[in-house]
Amino acid sequence: MSEIISRFAPSPTGQLHLGHAFSAIRAYDLARTNNGRFLLRIEDIDPGRTREEHVAGILADLEWLGLGWDGEVVRQSDRLHLYAAALERLKVERLVYTCFCTRAEIAASAAAPHGDENPIYPGTCRHIDPTRRAERMTTEPYAWRIDMAAATQQARPLDWWDETAGSVRAVPERQGDVVLARKDAPVSYHLAVTIDDAAQGVTDVVRGEDLFAATHIHRLLQALLGLPTPLYHHHPLLMGPDGKRLAKRDGAPALAELRAQGADGLAIAQELRQGIIPAGFSAGKA
Ligand code: GLU
Repeated sequence: MSEIISRFAPSPTGQLHLGHAFSAIRAYDLARTNNGRFLLRIEDIDPGRTREEHVAGILADLEWLGLGWDGEVVRQSDRLHLYAAALERLKVERLVYTCFCTRAEIAASAAAPHGDENPIYPGTCRHIDPTRRAERMTTEPYAWRIDMAAATQQARPLDWWDETAGSVRAVPERQGDVVLARKDAPVSYHLAVTIDDAAQGVTDVVRGEDLFAATHIHRLLQALLGLPTPLYHHHPLLMGPDGKRLAKRDGAPALAELRAQGADGLAIAQELRQGIIPAGFSAGKA
């Protein structure tokens, strides 16, 4: 059997909380119990929201929890050329198009969200006249969106194996023409994560079930770009005692706070392995 390679891939846009720790522990344990490798990738593609202090905090949190990683820490901001090359390939195949719409315009005209948190893009910019499009590209900011109808025609049917859900048939079209390169960032999460998991040889993607919908898109991108499909483990999210999801936005404590209070990181990791919220830490506001 080939070596298991898992990864933890946080975005340094905020502090890690117990939910992140829960996910990182699962990825770490999968690798360690199989003599595999556990990688750390910092997903810092968003220049407006990335903070260096959060990168340092992530490394310190993982060490505190006893989750040592293998090899160098990979930063997506060092890999923009790889994402640009992949986007170029999709441009040549006419599977992406430029989109000038603002968030407000999309919100005003989009269909209701379906399967994903974002509204489905109504396709406004899909059929702009080529001359007009070229003109607008010289004066207006734009994103690159996938032409989902064309892309799914080229690549289907698509399946992936999920250790939690079993065999899953990808239906990326439910999410419409998603963004692959943003107006304010040279790549989107979907494209960067798909390329990096393949480039780093990740065999097992361990992440929360909140990213399950995203995997439909990633499976399509793998097919379009000729990349392998890893196994997926979309684990249930850590719930607080009140039965609510333990996420930072619900006021869950940051790991850095627990560290600063002198809490024992290794003991907390052990409790999280058993799905226990460490004593004394509420899940946040009700
Ligand atoms: N960077 C993403 C996040 O922090 C997670 C990426 C992934 O695990 O695929 O939400």
